[in-house]
Amino acid sequence: MTAPNLEISGASIHATAAQKKRILFFTAVIFLLILFSSRIGPWGPLLPKAVLFWSAHLSLLLLFISFAWYGPVWGVLTLLGTLAILLMVGLASRDWLMFALPFQAALLGAIAYWGVEQHRKPYQETSVALEKQLQEVNSLQSDLAHLEELHRGSVQRLSRYQHLRRIANALNLTLDTEALLEVIVQSSSELVKNADHVLLYLADDKGLELRKVWRRAGTLTIKAKRGDALDQWVMRHAQPLLAEELRHDFRFPEITPELLERPCGAVLAVPLVSEHRFLGVLRLESVQERGLFSDDLRLIRILGDLASLSIENGTLYERMAQLAMTDDLTGLMVREQFLKQFKQEILNSQKTQKPFAVLLIDMDHFKSYNDRFGHSAGDKLLKQIARILNNFRRPGDAAGRYGGEEFVSLFCQTDRDEAIKRAENIRERIASTPIELRREVAQVSVSIGVAFYPEDGTDPMVLLGAADKRLYQAKAQGRNRVCHSG
Ligand code: GH3
Ligand code: MG
Ligand code: MG
Repeated sequence: MTAPNLEISGASIHATAAQKKRILFFTAVIFLLILFSSRIGPWGPLLPKAVLFWSAHLSLLLLFISFAWYGPVWGVLTLLGTLAILLMVGLASRDWLMFALPFQAALLGAIAYWGVEQHRKPYQETSVALEKQLQEVNSLQSDLAHLEELHRGSVQRLSRYQHLRRIANALNLTLDTEALLEVIVQSSSELVKNADHVLLYLADDKGLELRKVWRRAGTLTIKAKRGDALDQWVMRHAQPLLAEELRHDFRFPEITPELLERPCGAVLAVPLVSEHRFLGVLRLESVQERGLFSDDLRLIRILGDLASLSIENGTLYERMAQLAMTDDLTGLMVREQFLKQFKQEILNSQKTQKPFAVLLIDMDHFKSYNDRFGHSAGDKLLKQIARILNNFRRPGDAAGRYGGEEFVSLFCQTDRDEAIKRAENIRERIASTPIELRREVAQVSVSIGVAFYPEDGTDPMVLLGAADKRLYQAKAQGRNRVCHSG
């Protein structure tokens, strides 16, 4: 809002300068016309007294106007001029009565001037007071406008910070990296209304990798999956960047709309950093030049800091979850994780009506290897078995360490014959792979019990029980064998 500037113009109280000039001019012309026509005009000496009388009164008017409008100096000059003219006329006419008329005129003029001044003084004082008050009103109004502006700015800033708080809560709610990246990109677009594109890169061993993209209208295809000069700049300097007019930014002459293949007038980008570890780049673009401001950069920096923390937490959580799911020594699934996948496979098979097989694998005479070569040699053997089981794994299969030197494998969507063949292959491979333990070449074998879904049962524990029974049969029958029935 702009305050209306109240004003008392001179014109509303007095006549304008042009009006004054016009009145003076006409008064002077009438006065002179009457004066001259009385002496030399067609009326000639016929009306000298009347003419002089009227000219005296006109001079009075002139006198009054001069006094009132131009101040006392001009008034006195006009008075003297008028008196001089009237005296000359009086002398010329030799009429002493007429000769006295100027003095009467001067007296009347002075009285008129005094009367006007009496009224003008309080009027002027009131005007001055009114003008002062109006000035105060003007200044108050401009103060009010300024305060309103500040208030609006504060309200806007407050709402943006409240928005940031909501975003922080949303970021805290999830530890899943994909979901986090979605929240970050969406939040950026909500915080900066002028942003038309949002790009999120995460750092990996090879540099940056584009992980999320958002566009206000339509879809956005980004060619530079590993970032362009702008993102590299942010990564190298680990500093935020604001290019208000990208076309004229001397730092990035190579970045052109043709190269980007999308309209881009302004760019802001912030590094995602957590405890001095560079995590990625969050980049916002506006199609308008000067479409992004330092205020936006400030907000996105805060969002970037929050996002970095959340990404770091999410990564740590994923790593911990991964660690909790895998066995330290062999890298295979732990028993609980295997059972989870086992149950899932039963559900899948119920839907697809496809069979599957579960294997319990136990090392033969493992204790004796431990006793002979030591515990760490025993660990080496366990790792080798795990490696072989992993190599035999197909997509959808699972392999885990069931405990001690016992392993489990799941062959998904595999029928009985195929499962037996694959179990035999595993046994053979283990038995035929030599391993060096303390400079001695050792050979190990395993015994395997196999159970089949659905013929041996539809419950994980029942199936594992059947496999365990067959494993002990294999042991009883002399070890290094696969047992699948009975
Ligand atoms: P069998 O052929 O009857 O299975 O004989 P075995 O010696 O393998 O049978 P047993 O179950 O008696 O021995 C298992 C041994 O595995 C006992 C334990 O010391 C060893 N063991 C269990 N977990 C580990 C481990 O993590 N590392 C090592 N090195 N040894 C382990
Ligand atoms: Mg054993
Ligand atoms: Mg055992």
